[in-house]
Amino acid sequence: MNKISLITGAGFAGSTIARGLADAGHMVHLIDKRPHIAGNAYDEVDANGVLIHRYGPHIFHTNSDKVCQFLSRFTEWRSYEHRVLGVVAGRHYPFPINRDTLNQLYGLDLDETGASAFFESVREPRHPICTSEDVVLNSVGRDLYEKFFLHYTRKQWGLDPSQLKAGVAARIPVRTNTDDRYFTDTFQAMPLHGYTKMFERMLDHPNINVQLGIDFSELTDLGRYDHIVYTGPIDAYFKHCYGPLPYRSLRFEHQHLADVQQFQQAGTVNYPNDHAYTRITEFKHLTGQEHTGTSIVREYPEAEGDPYYPIPSDTNEALFKRYCELAEKESKVTFVGRLAEYRYYNMDQVIGAALASAQKILDSLSTIRRT
Ligand SMILES: Cc1cc2nc3c(=O)[nH]c(=O)nc-3n(C[C@H](O)[C@H](O)[C@H](O)COP(=O)(O)OP(=O)(O)OC[C@H]3O[C@@H](n4cnc5c(N)ncnc54)[C@H](O)[C@@H]3O)c2cc1C
Repeated sequence: MNKISLITGAGFAGSTIARGLADAGHMVHLIDKRPHIAGNAYDEVDANGVLIHRYGPHIFHTNSDKVCQFLSRFTEWRSYEHRVLGVVAGRHYPFPINRDTLNQLYGLDLDETGASAFFESVREPRHPICTSEDVVLNSVGRDLYEKFFLHYTRKQWGLDPSQLKAGVAARIPVRTNTDDRYFTDTFQAMPLHGYTKMFERMLDHPNINVQLGIDFSELTDLGRYDHIVYTGPIDAYFKHCYGPLPYRSLRFEHQHLADVQQFQQAGTVNYPNDHAYTRITEFKHLTGQEHTGTSIVREYPEAEGDPYYPIPSDTNEALFKRYCELAEKESKVTFVGRLAEYRYYNMDQVIGAALASAQKILDSLSTIRRT
């Protein structure tokens, strides 16, 4: 007999699992409290006809063939390699820091060996490396740290790099070559018709029933489901019984500029030292759309608001572990996704995790069938 599952959250985690279960013949009731599918990857045409990402720029990149093959069932792709510039004292430099950044910033003419020697001469060796400050000083030294990282991190996290775990800064590479791509994954592309269209096709299955604008806490008949997948915040599932898990939030300020063909030279420009916002993204770079005007978004980090970035600290991880202990007792519920696992996931990582979860759920549903 086919089983019925409830899935909370129509982002990448929930929608990937929904499609996996539906393809295997099971029924899926997929809910989301927002009035739209696609979670934080949601994109839409704004009032001026430009395709924008409501919750900030989402650039797809992966080294996983499996993830790529799964998504390619629902979209064609537009090849796109993201580039970022960082503004220091009014001038734009390639970011992540590469050889060109050094040459332009310091008026040098270094080759690859020279760039390595430069980093070696300015770095402040740290041992052990515990914080983000340690990571950056250890690789690029104080001047580059202060110009590109220190103030950006303070704005982004509301914390000094010395208060943040090493992993936060370790994600940002430093290069001795002139590669100015933000990501180096083997596959870098945008869904040709946007993320929302891709999700529409993923969820277009007779076994999937999507219900929007409904919160998990409003459901009263959970007993009728054979399995539950929960991709919302894990602390909310347990009614914050141990207190809330801290998140950093963002406010997105969208703007359309009529009769401006191009606002900036790259998809994203970082402002480490000026303004209350961290960065500006111009969507036409990402989507390749042609339009007489352009649409941009400024990101303002905030302490309150929608949960976007888990704040990595030992205290917060200990609190998360306490919620995990409760989650382990919920035998019929799978917790997956960035909010349920309280971790920063790139899109491809969350899809990979969701594909693996779908397989586990299918295995457990087949066990139910036998008993
Ligand atoms: C500003 C920003 C930029 C990013 N850029 C990139 C990028 O360029 N490349 C990249 O790979 N990744 C990027 N990411 C990460 C990407 O957003 C995540 O990997 C992805 O959204 C995770 O999918 P998810 O399904 O776990 O979560 P989400 O997309 O957040 O989906 C969870 C869904 O659950 C719903 N929900 C929560 N609680 C409930 C409830 N109680 N009842 C009903 N529904 C509920 C929410 O409304 C939401 O729609 C970015 C993230 C941010 C914040």
